[in-house]
Amino acid sequence: MWGLLDRLVATGCPPIHTYSFDFGPFTIAGAPGTDKSPFACCPRRTILDKLLVDAAAESGAEIRQGFVVEEILFEDDRAVGIKGRSRHGGSVTEHADVIAGADGRHSMVSEAVCPEQYREKAPLLAGYYSYWSGLPMNGRFESYIRDKRGFAAVPTHDGLTLVIAGWPYAEFEKNKQDIEGSYLKTIELAPAFADRLRSATRQAPFAGTAVPNYFRKPYGPGWALVEDAGYNKDFITAQGILDAFRDAELCATALDESFSGARPFDDAMGEYQHTRDAQVGAMYDFTCELATLEPPPPELQQLLQAAHGNQAAMDGFVRLNAGTISPTEFFAPQNIEAIFAAAASRAHSVGAIGERAP
Ligand SMILES: Cc1cc2nc3c(=O)[nH]c(=O)nc-3n(C[C@H](O)[C@H](O)[C@H](O)COP(=O)(O)OP(=O)(O)OC[C@H]3O[C@@H](n4cnc5c(N)ncnc54)[C@H](O)[C@@H]3O)c2cc1C
Repeated sequence: MWGLLDRLVATGCPPIHTYSFDFGPFTIAGAPGTDKSPFACCPRRTILDKLLVDAAAESGAEIRQGFVVEEILFEDDRAVGIKGRSRHGGSVTEHADVIAGADGRHSMVSEAVCPEQYREKAPLLAGYYSYWSGLPMNGRFESYIRDKRGFAAVPTHDGLTLVIAGWPYAEFEKNKQDIEGSYLKTIELAPAFADRLRSATRQAPFAGTAVPNYFRKPYGPGWALVEDAGYNKDFITAQGILDAFRDAELCATALDESFSGARPFDDAMGEYQHTRDAQVGAMYDFTCELATLEPPPPELQQLLQAAHGNQAAMDGFVRLNAGTISPTEFFAPQNIEAIFAAAASRAHSVGAIGERAP
């Protein structure tokens, strides 16, 4: 949509054509892409961020690399500017009609404006990741879901594979004492993958994190919040960057409507908030449920078992996880009925074949 996919592919980011979810007794595997967007990518942030910064500069944005914002300035209750420090150490003050905080989940702008926060949930999952060489993935994202444990492997730039393993946040403190041991023990829950990892080489220290889940009101007098600063959820469904693109688009459109006088600020930004919440609500709930690492509820287990072996249904589940379709679409009653009906008809024809067998 932003016209940058070709540039990303040209950096050597490997295309991912298959996602697989190994639940132990069975695996759901399918294609994450659609006709319009036929594959997924997992770029290194060092490469993706540079590409985005360059594209923003080409589009006319003034970029100041290495600039640190130290304070948000207010007049009465209105945000009016920032104070910061340039790369060379000089103190700088800037004023603006709107201060947009796209400064991540530790957002200084959010902290300064104290937005209303809703639907919040404390961290659910603790995850640790590293990058491995010698672990070919052949265009596949693989994830393994076990009792209160999960891990995933995905190919990225430079022939490396990102492997992330997680456990419930309640075990964060205990497992922090032995990160490598806890990580490898989690991977051992899928012995065939553990064998593959044994012949690979870890190329980076382990990095770990756990994140809170929240929605924040993303606007107020003189300020706006974008992506993690305004809305965040667990990384288990890996939706954050997709969300960041969507928020940037919605927020920029709203600000443009306000600056051009087409609509009052509160109307335009209220629509940004409403649209964001409507578009991500179902995925937020799905993500928070997955992040508990509890076994799927019985209805979901039955649905996944019914989907197993039905390629269209497996593609649907994979696309839901890739963010190319919404959970509302996958869990729509007609889709669920169609998946169960197809499973019943497969069982019937297998039975019929079985009856004819000598
Ligand atoms: C472990 C983990 C794995 C993840 N995996 C995925 C994944 O596979 N796919 C996916 O889509 N998403 C993933 N995410 C989520 C994704 O990283 C975030 O949702 C996304 O980066 C949010 O973008 P952002 O622009 O809001 O914040 P960020 O990417 O955090 O960017 C914020 C920027 O603001 C800058 N900044 C902050 N404070 C200041 C300041 N005071 N002055 C100047 N600059 C400042 C920071 O330096 C940074 O450059 C993952 C998150 C985690 C924690």
